[in-house]
Amino acid sequence: MKIGIPRGMSFYNDYPFFFGFFTELGIEIVLSDKTTKKTLAKGASLVVTETCLPVKVFVGHVLNLLDKGIDTIFVPSLQSIAPKIYNCSKIRGLPDLVRNVVKRDFTIIEATLDKSEKNMGFYEFLGEIAAGFGITDEKKIKKASKVGWKVYNNFKVMTASGMDYKQAMHYALQGKVFITSDDKEYPISVALASHAYNIYDEKVSMKIFEKLKSMDVKVYSALQLTNEQMEEGINTLEQTAYWANEREMTGCAGHYLKDNKIDGIITLTAFGCGPDSLMIERINRKSKQFNKPLLNLTIDEHTGEAGFITRLEAFVDMLYRKKRARIINKINIGETEYIPNTNFIQVEENVKGKSL
Ligand code: SF4
Repeated sequence: MKIGIPRGMSFYNDYPFFFGFFTELGIEIVLSDKTTKKTLAKGASLVVTETCLPVKVFVGHVLNLLDKGIDTIFVPSLQSIAPKIYNCSKIRGLPDLVRNVVKRDFTIIEATLDKSEKNMGFYEFLGEIAAGFGITDEKKIKKASKVGWKVYNNFKVMTASGMDYKQAMHYALQGKVFITSDDKEYPISVALASHAYNIYDEKVSMKIFEKLKSMDVKVYSALQLTNEQMEEGINTLEQTAYWANEREMTGCAGHYLKDNKIDGIITLTAFGCGPDSLMIERINRKSKQFNKPLLNLTIDEHTGEAGFITRLEAFVDMLYRKKRARIINKINIGETEYIPNTNFIQVEENVKGKSL
């Protein structure tokens, strides 16, 4: 038994769980290859132009699996993940979209998760997936679920400790858990608020983590936060969660807006994303109240890397200047409660003590 899993959409949140789950059930997983220009072009050629980038990427990965000879593909129908919390229409209709645009002969494992209208439990969802392979033994399914949660929890423990996504995924799939700590002092820290499928796909995000790291910027994201912290972040934005992935967007931004170690917030959204445009509006308003700089980056298949880097560099440069001014002012008025690392800043004699 084999299942093809496209590297797109919920893959970036749920893969550790499904790795454990399918492996325990004796189902071999075949992943699509990492996203390339070709994946994107092939996916984009089958859907209407207005479709958001992550969906185009996902369709490209389905095609990649079919080209590899895999004819059973996992495209869950994720309607609602909690009571009155819904996914966007594109995620909800993903199996139908794939079936209608990919005109080839293959089977879609499209179990439905709907905790609102159908009041479904998670086990029912897992049972439907397993039934696609003729597995109906409840004990076996529960055991596989436990293994899935174990891999997932290990992954979360590692990312919460600050380990980066790729490394934590690598160890979690090997059944290992390591705790990491980064003692290096960074002159600037930013929070990156976005959906996992936008920032952990290196082609889509244009390796934003590496780019910021090369500018000596420490990057925080939703990965380091607990669900409770993200819920509290949503409250900070005076918002009620409606969309399934608000936690990693508004929850993450709301939490880090209040965090003094964060110098600025970066959001990364796909062009044409309806839910994100609403969420960004809230983040934008609140960032002004918290006096925290915000950079909104929008991506689509035409986004050029040069322009992307320029905007990042300009933002980071502005954060350096803002921090420098703040430090000088603090020295001036004798505040002592916050002592940042100033080794990286060349304070010129003639501007010392002045407000920049
Ligand atoms: S939430 Fe936005 S980016 Fe994600 S699938 Fe829906 S429209 Fe696309």
